Amino acid sequence: MSHLNATIIGAGIVGMSTAAFLQRSGYKVTVIDRLPPGQGCSFGNAGGLAFAEITPTIHPKVLLKIPGWLMDPLGPLTIRWSYLPKALPWFLAAGRNAMPHRVKQITEARANLALRVVADFETLLKAAGTADLIKYQDTLRLYDNEHQFQSEAGERETKKSYGFEMKRLSGGEVRELEPAIGTNVHCGVFHGGWYFVTNPERVVTSIAADVVKNGGVILADDVVSLERTGNAVSHLQLKSGARIAVDKLVVCAGAYSHLLAKQLGERIPLEAERGYHMVLPNSGVSLSRSITYARTPGAATPMEMGLRLAGTDEFAGLDAEPNYARADRLWSLFKAVLPGLREPDGTTTRWMGRRPGTPDSLPVIGPSKTASNVWYGFGHGHMGLTWGPTTGRLISEQITGERSNIDLSAYRADRF
Ligand SMILES: Cc1cc2nc3c(=O)[nH]c(=O)nc-3n(C[C@H](O)[C@H](O)[C@H](O)COP(=O)(O)OP(=O)(O)OC[C@H]3O[C@@H](n4cnc5c(N)ncnc54)[C@H](O)[C@@H]3O)c2cc1C
Repeated sequence: MSHLNATIIGAGIVGMSTAAFLQRSGYKVTVIDRLPPGQGCSFGNAGGLAFAEITPTIHPKVLLKIPGWLMDPLGPLTIRWSYLPKALPWFLAAGRNAMPHRVKQITEARANLALRVVADFETLLKAAGTADLIKYQDTLRLYDNEHQFQSEAGERETKKSYGFEMKRLSGGEVRELEPAIGTNVHCGVFHGGWYFVTNPERVVTSIAADVVKNGGVILADDVVSLERTGNAVSHLQLKSGARIAVDKLVVCAGAYSHLLAKQLGERIPLEAERGYHMVLPNSGVSLSRSITYARTPGAATPMEMGLRLAGTDEFAGLDAEPNYARADRLWSLFKAVLPGLREPDGTTTRWMGRRPGTPDSLPVIGPSKTASNVWYGFGHGHMGLTWGPTTGRLISEQITGERSNIDLSAYRADRF
């Protein structure tokens, strides 16, 4: 039996990827989640392996748009007014990170995380027998007019400077490629190498099944508290009443991770950036790739279960009731570029998920500063599906003492 033991809190894409890579390094892994694998935020994302998204989520241009967005309660970004005082420090920190020198550093750190996204995905999904979930089709971004296209020239230049291909297509070329797209679309841009998966939930459940097949354990329970002995965490107290001993511990608890870090005396600013989706099994629209639309953050992705429209960002805390009108708004927005999109019907589903968002658009990947046997892997915001497998590999390398392919200092837990 293996004498190396690791416990991972959270069975989302980040936690399951971490478990899978640690298992490859000889660890016996136990994953604890109050939900079955892949039922948190990782369940319902847009499926984009969006590794070309290297500019931070909040950058100067987005800051300028925020006041306008906030005027519309169903707009791309909303803060419930009652929640504003709580979210304010996070937004002030995000504003500081939107300064040009920070944007440059953050972009570099995001680009570094992108280097092995596809390879790390393939490693896990090939082993799980689900590599066919990855579709190697570039995402297409759509524009209403030339002004809108030109307004993103700076971001495209940045992406190109990091080697991502950005190819402009005329409206006619866009429709030749994807006949479902309306004649009102002025032009499009291929986001080189931004692929997608056709079922994000199955990505996680298949990795989980592989981890279990190889001797891993998945425990359905809620981690209530981390118990310290000296400068290490020795036990976890679970809601069921069980108390389990831990050797190495990795916190991958998504939008709830800061609550666990706080128990170790570490304050990490994390907000639930709540996003919505609508899945239309009878969409009436056939797409061969994921599309994004410059008028609104979000994507329309053809998935196994139907067309998924996903996006929007709502700050209302972890526990507020979902506002599914936001999912309906996605339908009206995408209807503008997909004229054949059918009305939602009895088969349509709506969902809300909590993105774990840091104010600098970078995840926390690395050791705790206060507990010698604890590592963190959370805060992936809008990019957790994309960066999940790579994060799992990097954490596993840190725990086993292997050298990583990138500089990890930008993701430190004590940077805030
Ligand atoms: C609408 C939308 C669209 C998105 N589109 C994309 C996209 O196209 N591409 C992309 O890369 N990313 C996308 N994302 C972001 C991505 O989904 C998230 O970043 C990612 O799922 C986060 O994964 P995670 O493993 O950190 O968290 P989760 O999947 O939420 O997993 C964390 C788990 O921890 C468990 N947990 C928490 N606390 C405890 C505790 N105390 N005890 C036990 N269990 C606990 C939870 O139950 C949960 O299952 C999108 C998100 C949304 C909402």
